[in-house]
Amino acid sequence: MTALQIPNVSLNDGTSIPQLGFGVFKVDPAETERIVSDALEVGYRHIDTAKIYGNEEGVGRAIAKSGIPRDELYVTTKLWNDEQGRDTPRAAIDASLERLGLEKADLYLIHWPTPKQNKYVESWEALVELQQAGLTTSIGVCNFFESHLRDIISATGVKPVVNQIEQHPALQQPELDAYLRAEDIKTEAWGPLGQAKYPLFELEPVTAAADAHGKTPAQVVIRWHIQKGNIVFPKTTSRERMIENAQVFDFELSGAEFDAITALERGEEGRVSAHPNEVN
Ligand code: NAD
Repeated sequence: MTALQIPNVSLNDGTSIPQLGFGVFKVDPAETERIVSDALEVGYRHIDTAKIYGNEEGVGRAIAKSGIPRDELYVTTKLWNDEQGRDTPRAAIDASLERLGLEKADLYLIHWPTPKQNKYVESWEALVELQQAGLTTSIGVCNFFESHLRDIISATGVKPVVNQIEQHPALQQPELDAYLRAEDIKTEAWGPLGQAKYPLFELEPVTAAADAHGKTPAQVVIRWHIQKGNIVFPKTTSRERMIENAQVFDFELSGAEFDAITALERGEEGRVSAHPNEVN
């Protein structure tokens, strides 16, 4: 199985991650093995899953069946909210690794800050220890605002390598983006296509660039993320779209095209999924 040629992004702990991967949120556990097998055959080598998706076993079976050497794969999974705490993440990652059939994750993330339970700092301290214990190469967070990031960094001196946040042309959070760039914390954009809920594919700057380059609107939006420096893993269950979504390294948006898509920012109106302070 030949891997797609995908650039790596350097992370602040000295490791690197393929800039484009494959996400499996809402992929039916009963179909995950087949769908992830398709993605690996198409050439994806970076898979983004989570305990709460309920499909780590299917991801693990697809990886095992593929025969792809472990060091050619990049696997991310996440600590669910009810397992946050100082001592609970150890059992959580052990169980995730068991389901994935792996000895070590490449990246382990806190899934949500859940500010009301106020355990994200102790959870981060636990993740630092999981990394030291060799259970995951890198550690990071999802859905953190600047205040949450400042709290965990000041408690431990350890920066997350990524913050995985909802990001697409209609929701860019420029202030958070600027903080992440200044701290060298990479943005992993979840919902990169607006989860097909926000009508990005119908907006003129996207359709105009698609026509100009002979690409689909989805390819244009993914390319916008790539040029922004984001790490992305669009989700699809269709093999054709897996191929389509990876064909984004053979064209470049002009400065004017990129800026016109960036101008689609709508602030909170653009948010298609939960607000991080409301997930508890
Ligand atoms: P997405 O923006 O990737 O959108 C997925 C939708 O887009 C699906 O409905 C799919 O059918 C459609 N789509 C995919 N390719 C297409 C194409 N070429 N043309 C037309 N439509 C296409 O949304 P997502 O799945 O929520 O985000 C991607 C990944 O991010 C997830 O699978 C998951 O791994 C991760 N994620 C993380 C969090 C978090 O809290 N950390 C939350 C949501 C998602």
